[in-house]
Amino acid sequence: MPDEFSFINKIKPAKLKQSSCIIGIGDDAAVYRANSNKDQVVCVDTMCEEVHFSRKTMTPFDIGWKAVAVNISDIAAMGGKPLYYLVAIAVPNSWKEEELLNVYEGMAAIADKYNIDLIGGDTVSTKGSLVIAVTVIGELPTGKALLRSSAMPGDIVFTTGTLGNSAAGLEILLHQEENTYKSFEKELIVFHQRPVPQVEAGLILSSLNERVSLNDISDGLASECNEIAEASNVSIEIDEHALPISNALKNYSLDDQLNWVYYGGEEYQLVGTTSKQHYLQIEEKMKQANIQVTKIGTVKEKGEFPVMIRKDGRSLELKKLGYNHFREGEK
Ligand code: ADP
Ligand code: MG
Repeated sequence: MPDEFSFINKIKPAKLKQSSCIIGIGDDAAVYRANSNKDQVVCVDTMCEEVHFSRKTMTPFDIGWKAVAVNISDIAAMGGKPLYYLVAIAVPNSWKEEELLNVYEGMAAIADKYNIDLIGGDTVSTKGSLVIAVTVIGELPTGKALLRSSAMPGDIVFTTGTLGNSAAGLEILLHQEENTYKSFEKELIVFHQRPVPQVEAGLILSSLNERVSLNDISDGLASECNEIAEASNVSIEIDEHALPISNALKNYSLDDQLNWVYYGGEEYQLVGTTSKQHYLQIEEKMKQANIQVTKIGTVKEKGEFPVMIRKDGRSLELKKLGYNHFREGEK
């Protein structure tokens, strides 16, 4: 990277979409006017080369897209509307300016889709690998945040979309030559490289004025259900036969499918719980918006295990495996 100041000029958006922004890139800090009828919702996620992404499986454009998508997904999982994002990057000299500009093109592509503005960031050099930390700011009507602690016994457990696709896509990227990809394999790869956060579904859920617990599926269904169960002090029972699986994923053995659904992650679909009565209303609204939603289980009084799977008339513990950055194989 020749010069950070000329780089910042190149990535600075020509125009901002949100009218509440007073000053974006170009001063010491950004200023936007918060709406007094809204709660502000904010999150940050950091992605490190060779831990969260690799140039072997993702283009620079994909890396930028995904870094912003995963943060938008956290806002969606609170029922919020994303408005702004900031990007801090630590750049090693193995990355050329042109490649970094491609990262920012990927960010801008998903930002355009959700009408959000880049309003700031930070640029430093590093002797390590590329690090990208994205902060997203959003808002939601006062008091309407959808918390993972809101589940109650008797609730229905539901999820949006289909599950397991992203992990299957990564598996293909890691183990197959590009010129051998069949069309269903290409479909699965897109789930991994360009995840689509469920903002509209989250907004529908927060607009209905009812109790909903909600998480986005970043670490696999098992881990997310565990988080809801623990935060809400309940147990969750997943009906294995009800899990929504894409036609593309059905090309694999049932064991592979389930392994990816439970432990795969990087899905960015939503999983949540709500009362039986309210679920009917949710189903209706999601149908109108053309969003797939599936009932996948029920919430029970807290029992021996936080999460159980029901299959063939039996109940088994669903362990909380998944990726943990500091303890491999544990979560
Ligand atoms: P300061 O010294 O005041 O921190 P900087 O030179 O770091 O200023 O940044 C100048 C402007 O460019 C600020 O508005 C900052 O938010 C923005 N900026 C810097 N780096 C990035 C980046 N990587 N992505 C987006 N905006 C950036
Ligand atoms: Mg700075």
